[in-house]
Amino acid sequence: MQILVRYHEVGLKGKNRPAFVNQLVGNLKRALSGVPGSRVRADQGQLVVTAPDDSSHDQIRMAIATTYGIARYAFAYEVDRDVEGLKVGVKDFIDRQQRSFSTFRIASNRADKAFRLTSPELNAELGSFVQSFNGARVDIKNADFTIYVDVRPRATYVYSDPEPGPGGLPVGSSGRVAALLSGGIDSPVAAARMMRRGCPVTFIHFHSFPLVDASSREKAIRLVQLLDQYQSKSRLFLVPFADVQREIIAAVPTAYRVVTYRRFMVRIAGEIAKREGAISLVSGESVGQVASQTMENIATIDASSTVPILRPLIGMDKVEIIDQARTIGTYDVSIERDEDCCSLFVPAHPVLRSTPAFAERAEDSLDIEALVHKALDDVEIVGATREAVGVF
Ligand code: ATP
Ligand code: MG
Repeated sequence: MQILVRYHEVGLKGKNRPAFVNQLVGNLKRALSGVPGSRVRADQGQLVVTAPDDSSHDQIRMAIATTYGIARYAFAYEVDRDVEGLKVGVKDFIDRQQRSFSTFRIASNRADKAFRLTSPELNAELGSFVQSFNGARVDIKNADFTIYVDVRPRATYVYSDPEPGPGGLPVGSSGRVAALLSGGIDSPVAAARMMRRGCPVTFIHFHSFPLVDASSREKAIRLVQLLDQYQSKSRLFLVPFADVQREIIAAVPTAYRVVTYRRFMVRIAGEIAKREGAISLVSGESVGQVASQTMENIATIDASSTVPILRPLIGMDKVEIIDQARTIGTYDVSIERDEDCCSLFVPAHPVLRSTPAFAERAEDSLDIEALVHKALDDVEIVGATREAVGVF
């Protein structure tokens, strides 16, 4: 069994192309590591996956769905490359499909220019051949059944029904980012969107254990396990936040608590990002979604950060975000109950129009450096299988 895999954007990157293709090949191999005997090779603008015939299609689909950079793919059959052999192959293919159709078309692609017939000639030849044993009519525009023929230098393939891949760029082809991962719906989607643009992601979760139970920590670990399918060797930084919160509560006006929590989160996360070689932070905020996410509050949070903060969901509606959470597979874990650090001591009326200047003044009595370093000293780093993967 062969699977033909196409990429789009990757192909457009000019002289970076070989590196992109290598990255995609490597990522797809890793995703297919659960399919014994599978192989991946690059073949003139596409990838060809070979898997033993008894391999599970579902497992292969799953591997492809978690490999960003794949635009579309199809399960294909290799056939003999001369015209007579091709006819036999096309007939076999149609017999195997066991599908009734009254109109069809042949869509040939001749990547091997040395092949004797041009694509239109091959379409005509195979089209009349199919009509000779099957009563169906050729319909170029609205065919019930499209049979694709791909004549490549090393092999010739027949397939139908190409399926969409997850799109984007292969993880590893862009710079690393550090994602602020709560236990909620949004931040896992934000992280996945950056992976889809090729960025490997380091995860950072703030928890108030033991002020609250360990549920948000547990959720963060499980979310990282799910997101690890899209990259490998994920690292999750678990940052104890209770001490910082206690000091903020004592020093800052109640309305400014949540914004100040966030300002400390991005300060601490920024230090982690620098040490991890991450270029930016990523958060799951979108404008106006909750009180802490007004444009003013977002600006007040930004003002405390020394690294850029990317917000890939900034212009999305909640329904769109939920839809994506379902697609990437994190929704069910995200909606489980948890005790998040930011729900702790949150005022009924948080500030909507904060200013960086007021936030700074409110932090005057706090030893920011010391608080940041205290939190960093107690960070735990775990991998996707919960093992400790380093000390900070
Ligand atoms: P989410 O669904 O991602 O929790 P939200 O709509 O609940 O987002 P907030 O709780 O205001 O929004 O959080 C905004 C963003 O701040 C989150 O998307 C996340 O990136 C970051 N964040 C919030 N809480 C935490 C936390 N405990 N640890 C790490 N990052 C957090
Ligand atoms: Mg949240």
